[in-house]
Amino acid sequence: MMRLPRFVLHVPRTIAEAVERKASAPPDALYVAGGTDLYPNMKRRHQEPSEVIALHAVEDLRGIAEREDGGLDVGATTTLDAVARDGRVQADHPALARTMRLISTPILQNMGTLGGNLLLDTRCNYYDQNYDWRKSIDFCMKKDGTICWVAPASPRCWAVQSADSVPLLVALGAMVELVGPEGARTVPVAALYQDDGIRYLAKRRDELLTRVHLPARNGWRATYRKVRRRGAFDFPVLGVGAWIEVAPDGSVADARVVLGGVGSAPEVVEGAREALVGGSLTDASIATAADAAWKAGRPLDNTDFTLSWRKEMIRPTVARALEDLREAS
Ligand SMILES: Cc1cc2nc3c(=O)[nH]c(=O)nc-3n(C[C@H](O)[C@H](O)[C@H](O)COP(=O)(O)OP(=O)(O)OC[C@H]3O[C@@H](n4cnc5c(N)ncnc54)[C@H](O)[C@@H]3O)c2cc1C
Ligand code: SF4
Repeated sequence: MMRLPRFVLHVPRTIAEAVERKASAPPDALYVAGGTDLYPNMKRRHQEPSEVIALHAVEDLRGIAEREDGGLDVGATTTLDAVARDGRVQADHPALARTMRLISTPILQNMGTLGGNLLLDTRCNYYDQNYDWRKSIDFCMKKDGTICWVAPASPRCWAVQSADSVPLLVALGAMVELVGPEGARTVPVAALYQDDGIRYLAKRRDELLTRVHLPARNGWRATYRKVRRRGAFDFPVLGVGAWIEVAPDGSVADARVVLGGVGSAPEVVEGAREALVGGSLTDASIATAADAAWKAGRPLDNTDFTLSWRKEMIRPTVARALEDLREAS
């Protein structure tokens, strides 16, 4: 049986108390929300924080509120289930409500949070194993070792961004509020990530993610498509977030196609935007955008399925996502 390592648990009641606690804790201290990623990782000794700051008792981090501009603010520790059930999310962000139901299992959706999903650890076949398995291969660069078994000559880790909400929220242009000892700042969700399997987050370690700002419903459409082995539950081996803004004449005024599950950070496909903006969603423009995504996506051999099949799945999955948006008209 895998056991948690020993750690000191703090249970702050306010955002200020949580941030203060983190600032005064040892550098390896971590926040925990639902714990559906962190605790299994601690059992496998991926993360071994000496102190853990639990967020479940901070009421200000939970719940969904309407903003004056018509958008929604989702507290970081709102569970995936609560986001999926919320009538305002279902009305204005049906793609997000559906995506929550594609994450893990119904039981885990009751524990896992939106903030925890955005900050999910990157994944790799050589890393998502228990301690003894990892020890048997002399570990790898991401934790306890020196080599990358996926690309042995590589100086970096290629573990994969695998959180389902990320490609959709990046495509939507959603923002997040981060609070640290120096105050609060709001950044695009896209700015949370960097292309490195170990240092995959661009936010400062002591920053608490407090809220996700969803844009007001205003002439745009969005969708998320996921490829995985089992329909019941599995991490994505490919996730496609797609968003278009529609001009009054029905043409595409702006577009974003974002790939998840193919690299250490979400991949915004600039070529897809170029293929779509200015025209309508035709079979030809969809095929050109899907081709641009196929060229941009470079999966490596470190998740379920072969990398050549995952690469080939990019084209039809992006095309289906864009067809979703066309049918939503
Ligand atoms: C069997 C199984 C299947 C799963 N399948 C999927 C899947 O298909 N798709 C998917 O996307 N995920 C999946 N997950 C992962 C996980 O359940 C979800 O991603 C969940 O949303 C994580 O949220 P959490 O609150 O439990 O995160 P936690 O485990 O609490 O935290 C995750 C990370 O974020 C940090 N953190 C959490 N909240 C904050 C905050 N507010 N501010 C700063 N740091 C914070 C923690 O320190 C930790 O590093 C699966 C997990 C399991 C066990
Ligand atoms: S990509 Fe390489 S270094 Fe990163 S987790 Fe996998 S094997 Fe380890």
